[in-house]
Amino acid sequence: MNHEFSTVGQRVRDDDRRHVFHSWSAQGHIDPIPVAGASGSWFWDYDDNQYLDFSSQLVNQNLGHSHPRLVRALQEQAEQLAYIAPSFAAEPRSTAARMIAERAPTGLDQVFFTNGGADANEHAVRMARLYTGRHKVLSTYRSYHGATTGAVTLTGDPRRWSNEPGMPGVVHFFGPYLYRSAFGADNETDECRLALQHLEQVITLEGSDTVAAVLLESVVGTNGVLVPPEGYLAGVRELCDRYGIALICDEVMVGFGRLGHWFACDAWSVTPDLITFAKGVNSGYVPLGGVVIARDIADHFAARPFPGGLTYSGHPLACAVAVEHIKVIEDEQLLPRVRSLGTRLHAELTALAERHPSVGEIRGMGLMWALELVRDRESREPMVPFNATGEANQPMATITASCRDRGVWPFQHFNRLHICPPLNISDEELSHGLAAYDEALKVADEYV
Ligand code: PLP
Repeated sequence: MNHEFSTVGQRVRDDDRRHVFHSWSAQGHIDPIPVAGASGSWFWDYDDNQYLDFSSQLVNQNLGHSHPRLVRALQEQAEQLAYIAPSFAAEPRSTAARMIAERAPTGLDQVFFTNGGADANEHAVRMARLYTGRHKVLSTYRSYHGATTGAVTLTGDPRRWSNEPGMPGVVHFFGPYLYRSAFGADNETDECRLALQHLEQVITLEGSDTVAAVLLESVVGTNGVLVPPEGYLAGVRELCDRYGIALICDEVMVGFGRLGHWFACDAWSVTPDLITFAKGVNSGYVPLGGVVIARDIADHFAARPFPGGLTYSGHPLACAVAVEHIKVIEDEQLLPRVRSLGTRLHAELTALAERHPSVGEIRGMGLMWALELVRDRESREPMVPFNATGEANQPMATITASCRDRGVWPFQHFNRLHICPPLNISDEELSHGLAAYDEALKVADEYV
């Protein structure tokens, strides 16, 4: 170990603990690892520990760390035009908007840029409210839509609670989740039918004329990798059409190739009115998010101003990386590659689950999978009992540490280990990470 290097690491850690106020944490209970560098699917600390990034950080580094083409695009743009206000037309911004619109479902051809996912959802809701002249927004339990006041109100997990009452007019409903069905269903067809019936009931009971939008994650990410059953998204689209409601698909986590499609809703040929994106649009080298807007909603604002905007909307550096990001995904043919890795993961995780009694269910598609860990397969008691305070729970902390000890950085949420590496991960790296999970699950099995 390089002693000087390690001393830098210590200083980084000390400054961090004294001066950095971290998100979602009790400040006295955390000890973040100082990261010295990163490349591709790996990052490392100052003490020679390397980690295979099975989380793509916050499921945003779709092309991994320090991709040379993205770094070059960023450098070149910085030399040309590092910043210009959103009111100007700028090449990286207009090119990124055109390339995103060209890859979005037909009919969505305008892009409003934001700094990230939360503000994308906030602006999409504002557009839907102004367009429909209604105020309520229905969003699902077991969802995450961001941390700003409106977005966290839309969120359907415990992170919402301490921020309540939040934004008025938000009502939550249940989406499909067969493993823990809110409707008592025992097969996908019934789960889909009952979930749609439930949504229609909520729309009716809330007063359909008051509902501006239904907002959902096309595939729920952090809250469990919940892939909707066949027909569900089409059914929601149909309900929205019937009641004049805008459909907003939050694709902040699942857009831009994560599931092997430019947008997740493509997998079911469903066209929302608004799609929100961020994260994988440019791997977060510079923050970027946005809303892809259907033509009729965009036209609504042709003669009346849209009341919203951000100083860094469509930041040239962020957009230059987004343009190159799309080109790399195409040049490296990553969409078909992700779909085929999804098939491989399905097979290998099924085999893994057979070996480990702690695995209750595996779910996923493309390069976004979850292993739901249970103490008892029969009762499906979660490895983490539902805990209102969100405190770290010993079994999951131990299992996660066991992955890290084996050089793999997992994405863990409640009782689940997720697998969401960069889309350009190699076959060997994926095998390495799966082998580490296989070992770590032996630790999980001890809690069964
Ligand atoms: N929507 C979804 C589905 C997300 O997963 C996230 C972040 O994890 C967000 C919105 C919020 O994005 P941001 O953190 O960029 O505001």
